[in-house]
Amino acid sequence: MHEDVLTRLTPQSGKGRFFRDVHLYEKEKKSLMRRAKILCTVGPKSATPHMLEALLNNGMNMVRLNMSHGTHHWHAKTIKMIRDVEVKLNVSIPIMVDLQGPRIRIGTLSSKGMELISGQSISLTPIDSQRSKKRGVVNVKSASLPIGYPTLSQDVLPKQRILINDGLIELRVVKVAKKHVTCSVIVGGRVTSNKGVNLPDTSLSTSSLTPKDHEDIRLAVEHNVDYIALSFVRSAIDIQAVKRIIRRSGSAIPVIAKIERPEAVNRLDKILDHADGVMVARGDLAIEMTLEAVPILQKQIIAVANRRHRLVITATQMLESMTQHSIPTRAEASDVANAVLDGSDVLMLSAETSTGQYPVQAVQVMDRVIRSAENSDVLRWEPANATQDFSASVVASTCVAAASAARFIQAHVIVVFTDSGTTALLMSKQRPNVPIVGLTPFTSSLRRMETFWGVAPYLMHHISNTDERIEMAEMILKRHRLVESGNRVVILSGEHGQKRTGTNLMKVYEVH
Ligand code: PGA
Ligand code: MN
Repeated sequence: MHEDVLTRLTPQSGKGRFFRDVHLYEKEKKSLMRRAKILCTVGPKSATPHMLEALLNNGMNMVRLNMSHGTHHWHAKTIKMIRDVEVKLNVSIPIMVDLQGPRIRIGTLSSKGMELISGQSISLTPIDSQRSKKRGVVNVKSASLPIGYPTLSQDVLPKQRILINDGLIELRVVKVAKKHVTCSVIVGGRVTSNKGVNLPDTSLSTSSLTPKDHEDIRLAVEHNVDYIALSFVRSAIDIQAVKRIIRRSGSAIPVIAKIERPEAVNRLDKILDHADGVMVARGDLAIEMTLEAVPILQKQIIAVANRRHRLVITATQMLESMTQHSIPTRAEASDVANAVLDGSDVLMLSAETSTGQYPVQAVQVMDRVIRSAENSDVLRWEPANATQDFSASVVASTCVAAASAARFIQAHVIVVFTDSGTTALLMSKQRPNVPIVGLTPFTSSLRRMETFWGVAPYLMHHISNTDERIEMAEMILKRHRLVESGNRVVILSGEHGQKRTGTNLMKVYEVH
């Protein structure tokens, strides 16, 4: 194989980012390598080719498009922009389309909104969202708030809480009538149009997928994005429903379950049977549960997801103050570090990069704090933790063996040949102490692997012969200066000859 061929075949995914100067790895050991990945929400402040490039060059690994905001036209344009930047910089940029789900909202009020005073009584009148738009402004003197949840009266019970605007305003249900619900205002404040509503104590009868979600899934499939996330998941059935729609459109985009409802916390295991990953969606989770429950839930959800080999994203307000300031609070820096120590694969930025004043600085800070946490002695992953629930899988057993062999012989790198990326994820969940190089002939798997902890993906030829594969691996490693002669390498592969298998081979050797 000729070097020129390789240059064309192997987009350098980690350049200047995750794998910054990894050829210096030997000299400074771990300090130049970041393993946890950074997911940036793209919005009005970042949806330009220039900003996307700046975010990438400073450490962004993945993009989120939040379907709660923006038109389809805007999202389609942004996806195209991201794909163009991808080609221009010769990198892979995974895109996650985040569905709004059954987010309940206040209807349209006059521009001033409505002031609610603690102790007062207020009635909530359900309207369906279409009618609320047509009807327009509601008479504020009537002390009635329109709410976009048609089955409110059937679902809520007296004494249950109704929270408005990120939980800032609290109502308690006093009486349920056929057409409206009377509440008493516990914590007052000004309610304005379209503010979000949370019903933490209520079991919701509405479907988890709204008509808008169906349209948004269609957009995601049409543009062949890399992940679809679903908000307010309540059970595995919600995930199955999304997967069914994706499958029927002839696609296999993986699905991330956002854990933000108490039902999802209780049914995490069943949800993980079907979801490809989870997001610890701390914003709504804190409102739906309690603020103090979130730090513990974060640790528990991450631990379970890692045991089940599912991607886990920690999200919301990680560097919130950086929407206004160029440096974060000390508490925020600690939060980022702790999310790494808890075992997150991916850390997410929301308003910081979509609407904030300092998107690039936020990524820079996150990159630095993650690296510092990862290079510390505090970080001690127990590979055994990640193997507790292993079913008797051949692929998983080779990954356990590879992690152990890599430690034993002080290997420089673990190379994984993978079609779907699954072996790379299993390998990642072993949290080996060396970089994992994922080699695949498919761009969709290349992008997906970009989101995995400790994995640097590269594109390669379709090769089935095992010896040729190993030769190819060595060329790629040398070409990107990931190893030099004398370094030890662990390689995982499946058989692709007459019989095609999943990963079942391990080779441990020294590079000449
Ligand atoms: P959101 O989800 O930003 O779509 O609300 C994250 C969260 O609730 O934390
Ligand atoms: Mn949310």
